[in-house]
Amino acid sequence: MASIKENLEKVKAQLPEGVRLIAVSKFHPVEELAEAYEAGQRLFGENRAQELVAKAPQLPDDIRWHFIGHLQKNKVRAIMPHVSVIESVDSVELLQLIEKEAARIDRTVDVLLQLHVAQEETKSGFSVDEILEAADAGQLTCYPHVHVCGMMAMASLTDDMEQVAREFDTVRRTYLTLKDGCFDESEYFNELSMGMSDDWQVAVKYGATLVRIGTAIFGPRVY
Ligand SMILES: *Cc1c(COP(=O)(O)O)cnc(C)c1O
Repeated sequence: MASIKENLEKVKAQLPEGVRLIAVSKFHPVEELAEAYEAGQRLFGENRAQELVAKAPQLPDDIRWHFIGHLQKNKVRAIMPHVSVIESVDSVELLQLIEKEAARIDRTVDVLLQLHVAQEETKSGFSVDEILEAADAGQLTCYPHVHVCGMMAMASLTDDMEQVAREFDTVRRTYLTLKDGCFDESEYFNELSMGMSDDWQVAVKYGATLVRIGTAIFGPRVY
């Protein structure tokens, strides 16, 4: 079996210039994260608040933690001291709360707006209509302690790569609409986080700047 270091090197060798890798380490023990860190990895993704809060203090503090799971409102305060980017902002209410909690500890936090494009209802995120309405209403751009840095999305879990491509294309086009619209004066709105172990090659074709890869680096998760 290939080591974590070998897996990381293999993925990174295939990533085009300008696309950064988030090592999705959810459900993997800190020893495995430390192995990835030793191999040079600095961006890690976690999807549960408690797990992120438990792991962060055990690892070097130049790691940049990306929160990528559905974020419950009562967990925002707990992750705020640790997180570098909250990728999974799926409502205006959550954005407002993130502003409040960031202000409370006098920091600025980067976030991405999550778009729901997959077929599964269980996945979260704004619908295209919801995000365009929020943009028109000025609800995405009024946060002094939040930098809205772009968008994040997950495609459907399917072998049909044409379906996946259509979904990533929807994300890219929505991202460009916002970039030319309410974020046209933003110096931050530049990131498109999409693509996982099985579909990142497609995501990159549609303009991903961040890919979130777990299984292809750490192996299968044991839940
Ligand atoms: C788990 C997860 C990933 C990584 O999935 P793999 O298929 O293991 O690469 C990426 N993004 C999100 C939001 C996740 O929850």
